[in-house]
Amino acid sequence: MEFSLIECIRALTQQPRDDVRLGIGDDAALLSVPVGQDLAVAIDTLVEGVHFPPGTAAADIGWKALAVNLSDLAAMGASPAWALLALTLPQPNQAFVEDFAQGFAELARPHRLALVGGDTTRGPLSISVAVHGFVAPEKALVRTGAKVGDAVLVTGTLGDAAAGLHALGNPFQADDKHSSARDFLVARLNRPTPQLAAGSALRGLAHACIDISDGLVADLGHICTASGVAAEIDTALMPLSPALMALYDDASAQQFALTGGDDYELCFTVPMARLANVQSDLSRIGCGFTRIGRIVEGSGVKVRGANGEWLESGHAGWDHFA
Ligand code: ADP
Ligand code: MG
Repeated sequence: MEFSLIECIRALTQQPRDDVRLGIGDDAALLSVPVGQDLAVAIDTLVEGVHFPPGTAAADIGWKALAVNLSDLAAMGASPAWALLALTLPQPNQAFVEDFAQGFAELARPHRLALVGGDTTRGPLSISVAVHGFVAPEKALVRTGAKVGDAVLVTGTLGDAAAGLHALGNPFQADDKHSSARDFLVARLNRPTPQLAAGSALRGLAHACIDISDGLVADLGHICTASGVAAEIDTALMPLSPALMALYDDASAQQFALTGGDDYELCFTVPMARLANVQSDLSRIGCGFTRIGRIVEGSGVKVRGANGEWLESGHAGWDHFA
């Protein structure tokens, strides 16, 4: 194809929006923020060998580069609108860029997200995406609002992405059951689903919210620090996928769930009186969720083991994979 790389990206990610006055092609994009909305902005960078393994399919990298950013908007309860893409490539590779843009567009399209500009440079493979979304003033889900007595909940299942990364480097028996479980876990690593609908549903319900990118204990720890509280969680309550349990023993599965990153589920706190509302609102959008603990006075995250004992943070049983 004689398209330039930028023209190829533009063509594959086209998304008409009234609030984009001027998109890709000029020195800057011109955008209209809706009256009465706050602009929520976030940026994340993926570096080959650090944030995804070398050899990851270009389409998966494109999906994930956007997904991790949309997850940040989800955790704020914001609705996505626009993105900027800074692509650093070892060499101008049309096939790579085409596949990358297709993976990016596959996730952007259902959210009506428009790619409005970016930058393309040469260097070690690295991708930065900046996203912009809207949220009503005072309605954003922040990390600072957790209160003593709140329940701690998470969407979906935990530990899948970290187990997927582990499984990539460790061959299993090649029977159907194991290979489909492995495929599921690797897909959770390469194609995370940002929980945008859940984030929107939790506006006005959750006291605090964060997306799980670094692992449950680490990210819930950020809520605790920001809110000046502590959390107690139970390993026995960790939501584990059938695939994770099919490939790993209980102890390993729980370690992945506690400390494994890259799941991009939401962890949030709600006052007990609103649990029924959370139940009905998340069920209505088909979002699974699990109550895993509670907010208490103090600092840090305390983890209760399967037999009710408190686990030490240095305990081999739960920071083994950190
Ligand atoms: P400038 O030198 O003015 O920064 P560029 O040649 O870098 O212009 O970019 C030309 C146009 O293409 C700009 O509108 C820019 O936003 C867009 N663009 C460049 N790279 C990308 C990319 N990777 N993704 C999306 N848009 C891009
Ligand atoms: Mg430029």
